[in-house]
Amino acid sequence: MFDSLSDRLGGVFDRLRGRGALTEADVRQAMREVRVALLEADVALPVARQFVDEATEKAIGQNVLRSVTPGQQVVKIVHDALIAMLGGDDPQAAELKIDVTPPAVVMMVGLQGSGKTTTTAKIAKRLSGGQMGRDRKKVLMASLDVNRPNAQEQLATLGKQVDVQTLPIVAGQQPVEIARRALQAAKLQGFDVLMLDTAGRLHVDQALMDEMKAVAEIATPQEILLVVDSLTGQDAVNVAQSFSDQVPLTGVVLTRMDGDARGGAALSMRAVTGKPIKFAGVGEKMDALEAFHAERVAGRILGMGDVVSLVEKAAESIQQEDAERMAAKLAKGQFDMDDLRGQLAQMRRMGGLGALAGMMPGMKKAQQAMANGAVDERILLRMDAMITSMTQKERSKPELINAKRKIRIAKGSGTTVQDVNKLLKMHQEMSTAMKKIRKMGGIKGMLAMLG
Ligand code: GDP
Ligand code: MG
Repeated sequence: MFDSLSDRLGGVFDRLRGRGALTEADVRQAMREVRVALLEADVALPVARQFVDEATEKAIGQNVLRSVTPGQQVVKIVHDALIAMLGGDDPQAAELKIDVTPPAVVMMVGLQGSGKTTTTAKIAKRLSGGQMGRDRKKVLMASLDVNRPNAQEQLATLGKQVDVQTLPIVAGQQPVEIARRALQAAKLQGFDVLMLDTAGRLHVDQALMDEMKAVAEIATPQEILLVVDSLTGQDAVNVAQSFSDQVPLTGVVLTRMDGDARGGAALSMRAVTGKPIKFAGVGEKMDALEAFHAERVAGRILGMGDVVSLVEKAAESIQQEDAERMAAKLAKGQFDMDDLRGQLAQMRRMGGLGALAGMMPGMKKAQQAMANGAVDERILLRMDAMITSMTQKERSKPELINAKRKIRIAKGSGTTVQDVNKLLKMHQEMSTAMKKIRKMGGIKGMLAMLG
């Protein structure tokens, strides 16, 4: 079996426990392990490369939380980046765009044996049972697979099993003709959804692609779902690319997630098609279909147990410590430049989520701007540099900072007097707000607000 990624990184990083920021060298070393883990999980090479580059950038310069190891923290960063790249945990991902003038057309494409026919019936079952959207849908299924012997019969059998109608089989018809007939039947007989199950080949070939394009042209589907076996390893990228080049895919279904696939194909799919993974097939039975969970798959790719929640807890507890320290100062009516600096550092660390940041007028703007991507962390670093250029006296008594001192601080920090003024104004606004909070309910009130 695989060593979990966190074990491996633990070895690399244990000596660094609690040593401040993650240096570039630390991160690069860890990311080499991450890359191996991704490849072991069957993530395609170019996708793994791109992912590691992005995650490296995110990790460099992050502060190491006191109670976790840098290795654990890197795992968490990678885990979060994986979830983001897998499309987050969007509850709407599993919805199909079928609220159109009926019939809505859902077309299934993919290689032979990927699970198209099975998935067609599984989705039809859900739709007709009212498990997708609010209403039960009247669904018609049609198999356009004239290559594989008995393929149309296979769908008819599944249809009986899930109690969904299938288009009567007419021997000798070609896929485009069957699609036309299916559309007409769906319109005339008032079906809400028409599901088209198409033929696949063992390998991507042009005849398959042409047939698929011709069907898509006449059926104008609302959804074209690419069905991919999650055990497809490095080839997943090529499969996704070829299909996505030929027809406008709207989503992906990953089958055989019940097997020992480590989920790497999911990452490759998403990276290449840019489309949401809507469902995961988790068995041969007709109800073995689930909404796709990015979180679960990210965990599977990294094989990392509960590292993520550990890091989350550590981050929380540090926030709590900071809040308590701040509360103690507030009780004495103090809020000096060092406190401001602590808040800035926390904003950087938490990506704009410092414990007090959201409550502060000056900070709130900065925080929102950061969330919008309008301000990057360089601005926070510049503020930090200005405070560093102050003397200890100036930090605890900012009112000492006159014009002459401002010039010195600006020079020392590579900023302008205007920048220094802005910082002082922000501090002023924050300490006023602090005083208000104290009046409003003191420490207890504030901690309650911090939740
Ligand atoms: P098609 O050629 O793309 O239409 O593939 P089929 O739907 O005929 O599926 C091929 C085989 O894979 C069948 O034996 C299915 O029962 C099986 N299969 C499909 N989806 C899953 C899944 O999610 N898990 C498992 N274990 N088997 C599946
Ligand atoms: Mg089939």
